[in-house]
Amino acid sequence: MPLEIITLPCLSDNYAFLIRNPASGETALVDAPEAGAIKAALSARGWGLDWILLTHHHWDHVDGVAELQETYGAKVAGAAADAHRLPPLDLAVEDGGQFALLGEQVQVMDVSGHTVGHIAFYLPGSNAVFTADSLMALGCGRLFEGSPQQMWASLSRLAALPPHTMVYSGHEYTQSNGAFAVTADPGNPALQARIRDIAAARTAGVATVPSLLQLELDTNPFLRAGDSAVRAHLGMEAAEDAEVFAEIRKRKDNF
Ligand code: ZN
Ligand code: FE
Repeated sequence: MPLEIITLPCLSDNYAFLIRNPASGETALVDAPEAGAIKAALSARGWGLDWILLTHHHWDHVDGVAELQETYGAKVAGAAADAHRLPPLDLAVEDGGQFALLGEQVQVMDVSGHTVGHIAFYLPGSNAVFTADSLMALGCGRLFEGSPQQMWASLSRLAALPPHTMVYSGHEYTQSNGAFAVTADPGNPALQARIRDIAAARTAGVATVPSLLQLELDTNPFLRAGDSAVRAHLGMEAAEDAEVFAEIRKRKDNF
């Protein structure tokens, strides 16, 4: 039986995710931007909390951990490489590592770039990858710690997952990401169609996260550094893909 995954809006534009095994009643959380919204979602359903998975050390992904642990006794998993700046970990995981969660295998991927030590959790049995501020809906995280080369390598590994994978990213930035994306990839009809869908979803108050990896491959400019139309538009036909990515990221920073 596939796991149930619920998108939880937190703070002003963050997302956390509840993962539930309906058979066993076990529940996990990906990222803890705040305790309040998460406790409210759990109590509304009468659920406990067994695990908290952390993607990276930024406050808007870890601030709720202590209170949630105190209330529910949840165990915490996060990157061994970042243990010194994450809340205390019960399970320290590394790139390429696997662990069992709610009866399913989780694969750990290093996706450094936004921070060095940022990880993603890939659940092949549920067609889900939790990417937080690495690969985002129509965007990618700002490079606070890592190099463009590092982020390009991280995005390339995520892009190689099965295209039917759903991407659970950490923020509702999709509409503003779209406003930039058309300036990098103006001749892409799939991007223009997606921007219309995003506007309709946001008008209706619907989350644009998760998104289908295939849709990201077709429309997310940060995954399209190898695309000939994008390269021609930027006048970078002869550049390395990582250089094209770096240029797109720089333009977004200044957008
Ligand atoms: Zn962050
Ligand atoms: Fe964030």
